Amino acid sequence: MSRLVMKFGGTSVADLERIRRVARLVNAEVEAGHQVAVVVSAMAGKTNELVAWTDGAGAAAQGLPPSDDEYDVVVASGEQVTAGLLAMTLRNMGLKARSWLGWQIPIIADDAHGRARIDEIPPEKLGAALDAGEVAVIAGFQGVTRDGRIATLGRGGSDTSAVAIAAALECPCDIYTDVDGVYTTDPRIESKARKLAKISYEEMLEMASLGAKVLQTRSVEMAMAYNVPVRVLSSFVEPGEAPGQGTIVCDEEEIVEKRIVSGVAYSRDEAKISLFGLPDHPGVSSAIFGALADANVNVDMIVQSHARTADTANMEFTVGKRDAQRAVEIIRANQPQIGFEDVRVNEDVAKVSVIGVGMRSHAGVAKSMFQALAEKGVNIQVISTSEIKISVLIDAAYTELAVRALHAAYGLDQL
Ligand code: ADP
Ligand code: ASP
Ligand code: MG
Repeated sequence: MSRLVMKFGGTSVADLERIRRVARLVNAEVEAGHQVAVVVSAMAGKTNELVAWTDGAGAAAQGLPPSDDEYDVVVASGEQVTAGLLAMTLRNMGLKARSWLGWQIPIIADDAHGRARIDEIPPEKLGAALDAGEVAVIAGFQGVTRDGRIATLGRGGSDTSAVAIAAALECPCDIYTDVDGVYTTDPRIESKARKLAKISYEEMLEMASLGAKVLQTRSVEMAMAYNVPVRVLSSFVEPGEAPGQGTIVCDEEEIVEKRIVSGVAYSRDEAKISLFGLPDHPGVSSAIFGALADANVNVDMIVQSHARTADTANMEFTVGKRDAQRAVEIIRANQPQIGFEDVRVNEDVAKVSVIGVGMRSHAGVAKSMFQALAEKGVNIQVISTSEIKISVLIDAAYTELAVRALHAAYGLDQL
């Protein structure tokens, strides 16, 4: 019998009425002859509320070091509620169903609390439940460490739970959410955004890591590594209502229609750190980025330039907003080794990116990007490129304007 993983995000299980609709969608797949494992997120807004509780009670409030393992105990609880409620609802509809928490399967994760990675999912217990005709309703976002502690997989991590379970069960994964697929850009920002029938794993990976939150980045990495067929589709339909095909995330070779640019993504989760008056000699970058790496701060875009004074340089780079203050403290603490004159941080920045595998073989993509932004008077602060994307850092106030201008410049509204 064929197996299927169905994942429902927070807005799809936001109240009992929506949970009943999810149950009807699950029932339809069972009736179509599938063995179904369902992965659920917490109700919309619940995880934010739980995170706020930990801020109030936790280390930050008392000036103590963070206890990330207890953070995970708190924030993982939202998914326990929805898993139980959905299992109950399915039973009320006459189906065999039970809930599964991360430790019960088990979904074994490493101990990087708050952003843990899944190490292993032994498929035996889940497989046996499915073979016995039971729908497995799994709490997303959570795993268990080898020494028995709860670990969460980072925000948006239920997508990764779902793809990892599909990999373990060797079956496809349908991600149901509040949009009916992956669009050329966030449809909340650009109403002319078009749904993509297919997108390659590689492009989806870039879109996700550059800010499109429709899929968690790690879920795409995992789908790519284990060749899991992934579909993104809307949960806001009744079974039998033309559900649409959603978007299929697949190998590049399976996409017939070739595009140069497939999408525009943005992230407001950036902060820019500027260092002025650095000594212009070997070892300076190593001192800066070595200290940040030792403290687990991820650095993204980097640009170095000559200062007006001879023999000095300036450096600008970006880090996640959450890490900005810590990064500045680390740099100040290493002032004697680095030897800069001044450090400043700017949190009013956003990163806007265009993504497309067609860039590998077409010149001129960057030119169109810079031209479109110049026409709108948007100043570019930092640029970074890779084989299939170009990102620019701009003033956050221009984010929506820039996204819309680029969307139009590449003709994405006319796909
Ligand atoms: P869920 O709660 O189901 O996990 P998310 O809020 O995490 O849903 O992700 C869905 C949201 O992602 C959409 O509501 C949409 O605003 C946003 N989004 C950003 N970029 C895109 C894109 N390119 N295509 C579709 N949705 C996108
Ligand atoms: N509930 C978690 C979050 O809000 C995980 C998820 O929804 O995927 O981040
Ligand atoms: Mg999500």
